Amino acid sequence: MGRNANVSLHEKYDEEGNLQAEKCPVCGSILAEHDNRKTCGKCGYTQR
Ligand SMILES: [Zn+2]
Repeated sequence: MGRNANVSLHEKYDEEGNLQAEKCPVCGSILAEHDNRKTCGKCGYTQR
């Protein structure tokens, strides 16, 4: 079984329904989580 090559962008919420995701410091969009980094789909910002 290999790694799932399909990276899905799902948002996480806590018990109170608040979004548990980091926001892009550049444009304020939700960062997409990857294996070892987070990226912004809007401006291309990458965070490790
Ligand atoms: Zn951004």
